[in-house]
Amino acid sequence: MNMPFKRNVYERAIYKEPAPILDRENPFQSMMERFDIAAEILELDAGFYEYLCTPSRIHITAIPVVMDDGRLRVFDGMRVIHNEILGPSKGGIRYTPHVTIDEVKALAAWMTWKCAVVNVPFGGAKGGVACNPQEMSPGELERLTRRYTANLIDVFGPDRDIPAPDMNTNEQIMAWIVDTYSMHARRTEQAVVTGKPIMLGGSIGRKEATGRGVMTVTLAAMERLRVRPSQCKVAVQGFGNVGSVAARLLAEQGCKIVGVSDVSGGYFNENGLNIQEVVEYASANKNSLAGYQNAQVISNDDLLTLEVDVLVPAAKEAQITRKNVERVRARIISEGANGPTAPEADDLLNQQGVLVIPDILANAGGVTVSYFEWVQNRQGYYWSLDRVNRRLDRVMRASFDSVYDTAQKYGVSLRIGAYVLAIDKVASALRMRGIYA
Ligand code: NAD
Repeated sequence: MNMPFKRNVYERAIYKEPAPILDRENPFQSMMERFDIAAEILELDAGFYEYLCTPSRIHITAIPVVMDDGRLRVFDGMRVIHNEILGPSKGGIRYTPHVTIDEVKALAAWMTWKCAVVNVPFGGAKGGVACNPQEMSPGELERLTRRYTANLIDVFGPDRDIPAPDMNTNEQIMAWIVDTYSMHARRTEQAVVTGKPIMLGGSIGRKEATGRGVMTVTLAAMERLRVRPSQCKVAVQGFGNVGSVAARLLAEQGCKIVGVSDVSGGYFNENGLNIQEVVEYASANKNSLAGYQNAQVISNDDLLTLEVDVLVPAAKEAQITRKNVERVRARIISEGANGPTAPEADDLLNQQGVLVIPDILANAGGVTVSYFEWVQNRQGYYWSLDRVNRRLDRVMRASFDSVYDTAQKYGVSLRIGAYVLAIDKVASALRMRGIYA
């Protein structure tokens, strides 16, 4: 007999271990709180709920590395495959000293929902190695990466599990993974990772893809609210990869970017900032906005509560919380970052009539172009920037419309609509595939 899922009926398998990350403002816990609401709306069968919250495989591996001084050190490596129902699993690898299996499990689940929202035929995965890359030489990092790859050679593969860069990993590390995997396979296999250097099969347009996707869904939201970009004032928190590209592209669409910020603080100009100049200033100033002159200096908290039409939080998690949500004056929030809105702020934003484009939709442009990279590698045919961008725009636009329609259908926010869409897709595919016995 089918038993619909009820919140708190049983402990979720994904959080069964003692987890150091279960504080209230943790982005992964935030994700699971929204997931639970969506599961309840869908009346998801309790068995399916447990299946979808439980990683399908967890690989733990010891990585011995001979350090430059001749000492042998052993690092902990892990790879969690959350789900492969829609296709091979996909997700980044992070190198950080305190990475935990619980963090990696939660991030792997997040990838499953993000891929499902944008209809990318991948499951979710995540990897991690407990190390401090800042204290390691390039040679040590290369040996660590190659041994991690060799240990997981039967896990990775273009048809099985496809890693990508994440915290403290980059194009060079992806290049070493391609090479190690290819040496074992006795052929060059580029599609084993995404986020590679363009010379080794990376996709043109990947670097700008997340910010570009933010721009596309923001324009789609403006259309729904019947406002033109030229009528909109925008504030962007965070001026890194995602924030700077989103700001530049929204300005190109005619929006007036009145505020930007980074760790050094906020910069406000009510007549609109010259974004090209700000981008050039940051790149000449070690990617920092510190000292930028043609603006009034404000705090990051002030930036979040500016009187604007659109707010793009593109820095880090838990920025809009119970403390400041009532002072947020934007009509649209487009979540470039992962988890910038704490769950307790969701209802208040709804009541305030703010249209929040949730992270699993707004910043999914990156994984979408990663999928394009994998497709191009497998075709052996490389697309122009124009083709990548047009296809990305189409995917983001269609995903926004599906999320919007789902939210309307169930009378919920876009965030819950996105989770309903994703869970329904993966659960339906699971139902069709059935349970192998
Ligand atoms: P990044 O390191 O390039 O930039 C981060 C920016 O945020 C920097 O300008 C930094 O100064 C600023 N920042 C940090 N703390 C801040 C604070 N307290 N207040 C204001 N600004 C602050 O990182 P990114 O790649 O642009 O990623 C930003 C966010 O987007 C992260 O949450 C990331 O997980 C998410 N994201 C990134 C991608 C991608 O493709 N890069 C994809 C999906 C999601």
